[in-house]
Amino acid sequence: WKHAPAHFRALLEMSRFHGEKVFLVYEDEHITFEDHFRRAATLANRLIDEYGVRKGDRVAVAMRNYPEWVISFSAVLAAGAVAVPLNAWWTENELAYGVRDSGAKVLIADGERAERLASTGVPMIVTRGEATGGARTFADVLGEVTADVTLPEVELSPEDPATIFYTSGTTGNPKGALGSHRNIGQSPMTVAYGLMRSVALAGKDPAAAAGTRRITLLTVPLFHVTGCFSAMTTTMFSGGGLVLMYKWDAGQALRLIEREKVSAMIGVPTNAWQLMSHPDFGKHDLSSLSTLGYGGAPAPPKLLERITTNLPDRAPSNGYGMTETSALAIGNGGADYHAKPDSIGVPSPVVDVRVVDPMGEQLAPGEVGELCIRGPNVILGYWNKPEATAETFVDGWVHTGDLARIDEDGFVYIVDRAKDMVIRGGENVYCAEVEAALFEHPAVDDAAVIGVPHDELGEEVGAVVRLAPGASVTVEELREFLAGRLAKFKIPVHVWFREGELPRNPGGKILKTHLRREVLGTPQS
Ligand code: ATP
Ligand code: MG
Repeated sequence: WKHAPAHFRALLEMSRFHGEKVFLVYEDEHITFEDHFRRAATLANRLIDEYGVRKGDRVAVAMRNYPEWVISFSAVLAAGAVAVPLNAWWTENELAYGVRDSGAKVLIADGERAERLASTGVPMIVTRGEATGGARTFADVLGEVTADVTLPEVELSPEDPATIFYTSGTTGNPKGALGSHRNIGQSPMTVAYGLMRSVALAGKDPAAAAGTRRITLLTVPLFHVTGCFSAMTTTMFSGGGLVLMYKWDAGQALRLIEREKVSAMIGVPTNAWQLMSHPDFGKHDLSSLSTLGYGGAPAPPKLLERITTNLPDRAPSNGYGMTETSALAIGNGGADYHAKPDSIGVPSPVVDVRVVDPMGEQLAPGEVGELCIRGPNVILGYWNKPEATAETFVDGWVHTGDLARIDEDGFVYIVDRAKDMVIRGGENVYCAEVEAALFEHPAVDDAAVIGVPHDELGEEVGAVVRLAPGASVTVEELREFLAGRLAKFKIPVHVWFREGELPRNPGGKILKTHLRREVLGTPQS
């Protein structure tokens, strides 16, 4: 046990002390902290010895939420290389872009991704599938895993790059976000603080919660920062367990909560919403579940109300973060959340926030402007994109592209994404506000508000609505309902009812560009 500098290696070394406790659960597989450490350390050495991986080289990880994802991530960082988690939903072309853009030297992929990545010609390690061409299997590369394996010696400092996560691509092409070891190091502190604060503010005993081994059900992919940092590295730090799902499925989540005695669910707002709407909800023992954390997309106040009714006596929390802030940066929970259900809460103790006008001048409380964030969680910049980096990161502040206001108590409210906002005849309409009002209607199961081009006004408000199973409502009734809640100019002029699910990315965000393209020009309801 040597002095461990403040980089990922410290986390990995520390996690080994959790020993025989189960770290990762995937279906019937249970992997202890010791297992994880040994395999990660072994793979790190193999990457160096057999693949020539050196400090700063990029190694891509392209998989569903398998335990090997976590082992590979740990191994790449322990080898001093930069982990590049690729989006498992990506097509062959998109994956090829990720490999090219990051300049990955080695790929670690599951069978399905391996097929899509074969044409890149980059050396590949394959798990859960066939290793064809020059690829080798994960098991073959690992070879014998022994108890005396040690981490490779690599000189690293906290500012050294550790990860390239791709942003969700909601507003354009995904950008590679270059994160440092320091970014990862601060994350468990931010998450644990937010969690314990929510528990305390929910009137529960934080000491009891701290003493309980936290079993987290991860309902979103590991290849986004929420999964990797807010769930995975935080669990590694705390010695809890992480229950992985191949993909989100509300029925499966209900079963897993019961079977694994899950205490915390981490994901996006839709996960919590769909869990409670599932026909099997009520058929499972969910008494172990004490916290529900969600973020990554707007959480309508109605969600809190539904949780309070359906899952009383829990500690729900809404967290705001972005790839550029290494996940969670601002959070709301407990009594605060009930008092201000439309707020994303207060900043992590390591984070500064402010709201600025287009000139970059700080605005007074209550005024709406662009949210900016500063702190040890802010990434180094975008990979290979100096212009976008200079535009977004100014004097240590990341410009979020989100419009927000901060109240007198320091609570932050996201009013909309700047690019989503509908401007109707010079009047700003915040989609998130109209969506939240739509969610209040009992017949509404999902809703997205979009701008519809209009010659005179520039844009008009449009809404795509999915009704709850068996529910019915007319457009007129819906408008009337909204009239009691919103100013006239905010009420959707165009409404499309939709049978199927709204198009969402794995981060829970509605793909509005996609949706706009789909519905514009089609008959309205
Ligand atoms: P891209 O930057 O590629 O267009 P993206 O911004 O969707 O994609 P992410 O970094 O995954 O990629 O998402 C961050 C964004 O998610 C934030 O800027 C914000 O708009 C939204 N967001 C995150 N958490 C919350 C929250 N709790 N409430 C409202 N919005 C949120
Ligand atoms: Mg973004």
